Amino acid sequence: MNFSTIAIHSHQEPDPQTGSVIPPLYQTSTFAFDDIGAHKGYIYTRFSNPTQSALEGVLAELEGGSRAMAFSSGMGAISSLFFAVLKPGDHILVEENVYGGTYQVLTKVIEEFQISVSFIDVANPDTVRAALRPETRMIYLESPTNPTLKVIDLDTIGALAKEHGLISVVDNTFATPYLQNPLKHGIDVVVHSTTKYINGHSDVIGGALVVKDAALAEKLAFHQLTIGATPDPFACWLTLRGIKTLGVRMEAHCRNALALAQFLQTHPLVESVAYPGLTSHPQHTIALRQMKRGAGGIIGLRLKGGAEECRTFLLALKLFGLAVSLGGVESLACHPVTMTHRTVAPDLLARTGLTNDFIRLSVGIEDLEDLKADLAQALDVVQGKHPAACSV
Ligand SMILES: *Cc1c(COP(=O)(O)O)cnc(C)c1O
Repeated sequence: MNFSTIAIHSHQEPDPQTGSVIPPLYQTSTFAFDDIGAHKGYIYTRFSNPTQSALEGVLAELEGGSRAMAFSSGMGAISSLFFAVLKPGDHILVEENVYGGTYQVLTKVIEEFQISVSFIDVANPDTVRAALRPETRMIYLESPTNPTLKVIDLDTIGALAKEHGLISVVDNTFATPYLQNPLKHGIDVVVHSTTKYINGHSDVIGGALVVKDAALAEKLAFHQLTIGATPDPFACWLTLRGIKTLGVRMEAHCRNALALAQFLQTHPLVESVAYPGLTSHPQHTIALRQMKRGAGGIIGLRLKGGAEECRTFLLALKLFGLAVSLGGVESLACHPVTMTHRTVAPDLLARTGLTNDFIRLSVGIEDLEDLKADLAQALDVVQGKHPAACSV
């Protein structure tokens, strides 16, 4: 079966008892036993719940994994993974441009457990090799990265991790399983914030881990229910509803984002545009190879001038809401340095090019002409306020 057929039908058979086409929402915390020691497969919702099992089944199949574990948030998934596979004395390599919350848990929680973390440019294999230590245990990255949209060659990372016995982890939130399947590139663990594209409607917080290896799956599943960052059944039910349209939504996100990136690239007030689908993107060739169906819905944007022009632009936008998060049907704009990445150390921000003139756009699936008109009018406002910024 192909992507959308799996998303709509896998693990979502009509209910055998009533014929309900949509699997019921099992909003219960506990399950009755038939006899001492005899249950029907479910005991307590922190351990698992049929609605959660359905979501996990679809996610595993969409990513090409053997098993998926759902969590109450992306950070719940990421933290549980670290606690499951790392121990004091270990060292891990982490891409220097990762989600702000991931940076925060590594530097404020994980490092407290005598686990050392090196933030490096994972895109450069020489840098990775030079950073390896005998106690290096994991390599962790995003591709495309949040929010600078650097694309990292997953085949290279997968091979390098195997060669050195590291667990390789890819946060696939930006690409989604529709565009990219890290497990097929030799990656061991896929991370998702299902809050974003997978649910897609900005009304749920959730996360997931997906793996192929059965022993690793057992370990992660144990930590999932033991640490307890497990999802509420209703969140799983909503995410299952959202996932059915993931394929068509991603097509629309990619189409709109590419057209807007091309439009912004030619605008005189725009300093630079980061979008992996543009031929001007430094890793465009890698993006074409590993993101099968498109380059995603996120655009990085730098305006001429600086912070003041950015603020004017962000406040002038009418359709793009000023908010953190991404991947919903509605368009959002965000200023990473003061919003999603505000806790990241200033030197790391500078090294990864995250300056105060950088804007992240999450392009929604509204009509392209309306989105383009909104960006154009907001740029007009910037131009009116700062006529000197534009010489054309
Ligand atoms: C949002 C996000 C997370 C964290 O997910 P939550 O659901 O907010 O906990 C992790 N990684 C990336 C790339 C994200 O965008």
